[in-house]
Amino acid sequence: MIFKALFLQLFTRPVTNRFPAKYMPTSVLGFLGKVQEGKAKIVPPVPVTEGFRGKIAYDREKCIGCQLCIRVCPAQVIEFKPEEKKIRMYVTRCTYCAQCVDVCPVGALSRSQEFLLADYDRFASNLVVE
Ligand code: SF4
Ligand code: SF4
Repeated sequence: MIFKALFLQLFTRPVTNRFPAKYMPTSVLGFLGKVQEGKAKIVPPVPVTEGFRGKIAYDREKCIGCQLCIRVCPAQVIEFKPEEKKIRMYVTRCTYCAQCVDVCPVGALSRSQEFLLADYDRFASNLVVE
């Protein structure tokens, strides 16, 4: 019986979706979000709670380059860009502790509700924030 099931699997399409979510087929994205400029814009399928610690959002216009966020970050997510006096964040290292948000004197960092961050490339454009 099991051999029959295994054999049939060879000719059956997978029932699961490809992950990361942004690689899902357009038909599935219809439930999750919309397609903008040829790219999938994922909207989380479930509402997140208030104060949810998602991807840290960075407002570079507000940033004054004080580097306090770099000092408090326990995971060495953030590096300083001295030529611009701005920062760069490597999201895949982040533990979402939000200490950088709390310490930033000008509110340049904030918790977003974005959590669908899986990717094949840790340096993908949405995983390096600057
Ligand atoms: S949330 Fe925590 S780990 Fe992530 S960048 Fe901020 S201080 Fe670093
Ligand atoms: S703490 Fe805020 S203002 Fe200072 S470098 Fe970090 S993001 Fe910029």
